[in-house]
Amino acid sequence: MACYICDKEKFSVEHAPAKCFFPKDKRVNLITVDSCKEHNEDTSKDDEYVRNIIAMTIGNNDVAINHFLTQCLKSFKHSPGLLKTTTKEQQQVFYSDNNSAKGEIKPTVAFGIDRLRIDQVMRKMAYALYYHKFNERWNRELNTGTEHLREKSMKADPMGLLIQESKKEIGEIPFEGTNPEVFQYAFLRSESEDLNEQILIMKFYEGFEMWMFPIPNTNGPVI
Ligand SMILES: [Zn+2]
Repeated sequence: MACYICDKEKFSVEHAPAKCFFPKDKRVNLITVDSCKEHNEDTSKDDEYVRNIIAMTIGNNDVAINHFLTQCLKSFKHSPGLLKTTTKEQQQVFYSDNNSAKGEIKPTVAFGIDRLRIDQVMRKMAYALYYHKFNERWNRELNTGTEHLREKSMKADPMGLLIQESKKEIGEIPFEGTNPEVFQYAFLRSESEDLNEQILIMKFYEGFEMWMFPIPNTNGPVI
């Protein structure tokens, strides 16, 4: 097969998500797709950055928390620059704890995030998953949306609000994935027959969801 992004021939394989998202004991049956030399460049620093942001996000499972305490902290130790870019612009915020009986409001710390960097990693992952699932490239540009990353004002992103609304109507989402504690994904068909018009939901550590929306009348992949 050709590369998951372009027409060039296979040079290597790309993991989706990158291996660093998985604790070492959960690296079975990982999803890979063929990629050319150009699209197999080393993006491990970006992948680690995004993994750390997700693992630090409130509401993830024990796997995320343990993985954060071991791998993520280790990556910070090896790369103080990564810690600095991950945690700059801290601010005190409050959240309601759904796990506590009273729905207590608790203080925590919010981080300024590099959303463009996160979106780029997510788009690569989305194109790879589409190629894996349908054996053809996703011929659309993609928008990202998530309820789990907030603007500095602590409002959800505009797509995040849309997602909160549509989740009430979608009901059970048919997730698939061989390591559900770490990663699951689901393609949702729209009314269109065109496979390119699907929405992709990527779910990390049973808590953090990133939704990928195809932009009508565009051609992809564009990372
Ligand atoms: Zn390529």
